[in-house]
Amino acid sequence: MQEKIKDIEKQALAAIEKAATAAALEEVRVKFLGKKSELMAVLKSLGTLSLEDRPQAGSLVNASKSIIETTIKEKMTALLQAEQAKKIEAEKIDVTLPGKGIRRGRIHPITQVMEEAKSIFLRLGYEIAEGPDIESDHYNFDGLNIPPHHPSRDMWSTLFVSDSVILRTHTSPVQVRVMEKRKPPLAIIAPGRVYRRDSDATHSPVFHQLEGFLVDKKVTFGDLKGTLTEFLRQMFGQNKKVRFRPSFFPFTEPSAEVDVECVMCSGRGCRLCKETGWLEILGSGMIDPNVFKAVGYDAEKHGGFAFGMGIERIAMLKYGIDDIRLFFENDIRFLEQF
Ligand SMILES: [Zn+2]
Repeated sequence: MQEKIKDIEKQALAAIEKAATAAALEEVRVKFLGKKSELMAVLKSLGTLSLEDRPQAGSLVNASKSIIETTIKEKMTALLQAEQAKKIEAEKIDVTLPGKGIRRGRIHPITQVMEEAKSIFLRLGYEIAEGPDIESDHYNFDGLNIPPHHPSRDMWSTLFVSDSVILRTHTSPVQVRVMEKRKPPLAIIAPGRVYRRDSDATHSPVFHQLEGFLVDKKVTFGDLKGTLTEFLRQMFGQNKKVRFRPSFFPFTEPSAEVDVECVMCSGRGCRLCKETGWLEILGSGMIDPNVFKAVGYDAEKHGGFAFGMGIERIAMLKYGIDDIRLFFENDIRFLEQF
């Protein structure tokens, strides 16, 4: 009996020694101390011993049990500590490592140029007006002295929604809408998206325009020249030369295209300006009396000028970008440069 108990104890201590995890050690505990363990079987069989042998055998079993229990307890503490230490090591973070930076967004170059153009005119005393992108041909054409079937409608490759509803080809309809509702004096800019059936390196089916007009009792071509020269100098540089060339638009008479001295070569001639030294920036002119008549203004008593510019074109010239499509592809590598 004594040998058997010692044998069990030896086996148990060896198994405890071998157990590498808390779970394995728990199995050892069940095996050697559980209800179905050999030690328990021995304890139960004590009844078969003679009365004088029983106490000694009993205390032997209890001593072994106590040794096994204590050893398991000590080992368990050690294992749990080791496991905890391992876990902490695995989850360790180096707080001195540099953090992951948050990528900063940037304002789109078109928005930047639009904001700059708007702020120049706001400083000159203009106010902002807006109109719908989906427009009737009345506001887009008729009201601007472009009657149906007039060949000048071909100047804009129009996108039609229906026979009489279109995507506006310019921001000029806002001019008609504002004049219909309000009386002069007016100094308005109308920024917004416009649409045309055009797509190549310098044309996009959707792009941005800034339209502006001023109506008052006495407005001269000199006022137009002064206003646009001031705008272009603030936009491209105070020393830039500006020139006005005769042109044609149905809604202005006389009309002028406005050029600014080339931003690349300062007028000497380069690829950007096609060796002319000048860059075409905007269209302008004195508002045609027919436009006034259409909104019920007395063309004899009122005068005014209007102008319109493409924001993409200004951005391309300002930043030396040669393909308009870059603005709309939203390639981060491109946009990050602004
Ligand atoms: Zn040039």
